[in-house]
Amino acid sequence: MNIILMGPPGAGKGTQAAMMVKRFEIPHISTGDMFRQAIRQGTELGLKAKAFMEEGQLVTDEVTIGIVQERLAADDCKAGFLLDGFPRTVAQADALAEIINTLGMKLDAVVNIEVPDEILFFRMTGRRVCSQCGATYHLEFNSPRNEGCCDRCQGSLYQRDDDSEATVSNRLAVYSSQTEPLVRYYWHLGLLKTINGNQEMEEVFADICKGLER
Ligand code: ADP
Ligand code: ADP
Ligand code: ZN
Repeated sequence: MNIILMGPPGAGKGTQAAMMVKRFEIPHISTGDMFRQAIRQGTELGLKAKAFMEEGQLVTDEVTIGIVQERLAADDCKAGFLLDGFPRTVAQADALAEIINTLGMKLDAVVNIEVPDEILFFRMTGRRVCSQCGATYHLEFNSPRNEGCCDRCQGSLYQRDDDSEATVSNRLAVYSSQTEPLVRYYWHLGLLKTINGNQEMEEVFADICKGLER
């Protein structure tokens, strides 16, 4: 299955992606994770992405499309893929259509997770991420068994730089101006599955699975 997972920052894409890739046995392709890893490793890609990410702006289309193109051409994507956080602009969506076409693939569904803005704010500012395995927690809604420590790997938890109050509102504005138009884009293509993300994680996951069966 070839799936795009869309939704505003904090909607629960990463959380749902972790469950979806297990269920559907497809690779998880998160452009945000790829950029964060590149920044940690200090690569050229990391240098290109860092300043944009810190400000809550989008990394340039050229750079972003390049890494996705390379990733989708890898062998493991023949089994399908879950794109999380890509595309985020119309130019990226157009480029993706071309990449997929060239690779002889097709898109099966675009899952769009909807959550009201005021809730997104608390989701992002309370988010904590494992520095070792990338697992996502929340101080209130999904707290680890031991404070500051990952349940799965015991790694230490940190707060993403761009989850500060100052940057979060910027990211929401960037989402509504640059990414939200893609909801109509994929609706027109008949691919859109709209999911209520303002419920328990397991309920959101059940709705996604139901939506994909139809
Ligand atoms: P995204 O990848 O869309 O930015 P995440 O999956 O990282 O979102 O989730 C953002 C934050 O909200 C995390 O701290 C996560 O633990 C929490 N979260 C995710 N889904 C839910 C949910 N259904 N209810 C409450 N909190 C959630
Ligand atoms: P979230 O969904 O919680 O905002 P992501 O991890 O998907 O988090 O993205 C974090 C940041 O990485 C974005 O604010 C942006 O700077 C950059 N980024 C991720 N995906 C893209 C993309 N497709 N195009 C441009 N920038 C991106
Ligand atoms: Zn961990």
